[in-house]
Amino acid sequence: MILFNDQLIRREEARVDIEDRGYQFGDGIYEVVSVYEGKIFRLEEHLQRLSYCAGEIGIELPTSLEVLITNLYKLIEVNQLVNGQIYFQVTRGYAPRNHPFPAQPKPVLTGYVTRKPRPLELMKTGVKAITLDDIRWLRCDIKSLNLLGSVLAKQKAIEQGAFEALLHRNGKVTEGSSTNLFMIKDGKIQTHPLGNLILGGITRIVILELAGQKNIPVIEEPFSLKELYAADEVFVCSTTSEVMPIITIDGNPVGNGSVGPLTRKLQELMEEMLFAHQEK
Ligand code: PMP
Repeated sequence: MILFNDQLIRREEARVDIEDRGYQFGDGIYEVVSVYEGKIFRLEEHLQRLSYCAGEIGIELPTSLEVLITNLYKLIEVNQLVNGQIYFQVTRGYAPRNHPFPAQPKPVLTGYVTRKPRPLELMKTGVKAITLDDIRWLRCDIKSLNLLGSVLAKQKAIEQGAFEALLHRNGKVTEGSSTNLFMIKDGKIQTHPLGNLILGGITRIVILELAGQKNIPVIEEPFSLKELYAADEVFVCSTTSEVMPIITIDGNPVGNGSVGPLTRKLQELMEEMLFAHQEK
């Protein structure tokens, strides 16, 4: 079963017009949330981001957030999802193809569950990354359906046997193609500040929170590729990748080439938080 606006229907029954603006223009936004033991992790923040993005592109959500929350939990229930994810998106809906917003837009919300296992093995061993020019647009803070820049970057990474492409713009490292990026140098954690050049990741919020609780110094300032190469530890994070250690960048080892102690610590703290969340 899938969510279609405010209805739960069979996937085969869902019908989206070929002139849906999401399909033709990428005119819409999306969210991916993780479900742990039947509970959606940090749903409030995900919905805040959805509302922010909807506001930034002038889309009115087809249902209230309260109704959406109820429906996401119904979706979990009917699909008997215990651990997995929900993908949901909102497009500006169908209208005869024309760039300007339609006079009376009818946004379309679709959502469905996926059951990707947590990448526990990769989180243990760490993964490879490459660096690439950030060719995306200048509103990366909007979780837009237009993902071509990210798709092309991720594909290049995969073709080179890497997990992620770390992007840089005007000499500064921004984020991964589908992750936020952190580096650690001399016990301090550094990440690009919020703004139009990165997506404000929910996992990023969690990591900053955990670091704060443990008095680990955090710097939210841009850093260069050179600084990235010289880092003691590097990791990327996202809803599905959680805290993912990067052990080589462009073929060069990060630090001593194995997962570093602070990255491990943050993984442990996040794990604890996921358990606490289950008990709520
Ligand atoms: N940056 C980009 C470009 C992303 O696509 C994502 C994941 N959608 C993230 C960061 C991480 O965001 P979150 O932690 O909310 O999954």
